[in-house]
Amino acid sequence: MIHEILPVGLLQCNCSIFGDEQSHEAIVVDPGDDLQEIRAILTKHGLKVKAIIVTHAHIDHVAGAARLRAESGAPVYMNERDHALLDMLDLQATWIGVEEPERPQVDHQAQDGTVLQLGTSDFQIRETPGHTPGSICIWIPQQNKVVAGDTLFRDSIGRTDLPGGDSRKIISSIEGQLMSLPEDAVVIPGHGRSTTIGREKAHNPFLQPGTK
Ligand SMILES: [Zn+2]
Repeated sequence: MIHEILPVGLLQCNCSIFGDEQSHEAIVVDPGDDLQEIRAILTKHGLKVKAIIVTHAHIDHVAGAARLRAESGAPVYMNERDHALLDMLDLQATWIGVEEPERPQVDHQAQDGTVLQLGTSDFQIRETPGHTPGSICIWIPQQNKVVAGDTLFRDSIGRTDLPGGDSRKIISSIEGQLMSLPEDAVVIPGHGRSTTIGREKAHNPFLQPGTK
């Protein structure tokens, strides 16, 4: 499995590009910006986008989705609880001082039980509300990897002070949906360096007993 992690845009959102060497199909997660660089990676590996997954509707994760959808014809997957945030893309653009991006059409719901296939790997959607109401993570058991969006970071968790954020929910999402994954599962957060479930269980200050 090809997996390239490309920090995109002003806020350096980690866009993940997964590619299957046999079928040459790709799944792109969080195409927040820098379409030219995403395109270059797809071309380098000879990949055709099969699906676009948006972990949540914050502008830095979703701003390139409409363009990538138009270019590739691939459907966009997002959780329906983030539609209100998606409708606020114009306001979100003013928060970070960028031009309002085109709003992508959402073709399919990404929710508990949704599974996308790439090669022999399953991309299993897990709902992890808290950072936003519709935040999701993507667990790929055959790769032992979880794409965590802005739910879990190395040594931190997602902020919950933006509209729709919920500090109690993010903790119960992490505990219920992520901490049960294998200790050596690799976590690809929405920003910054990768980590493992075991490392965060042991060291993440937000997940230690007595801190809740
Ligand atoms: Zn976010």
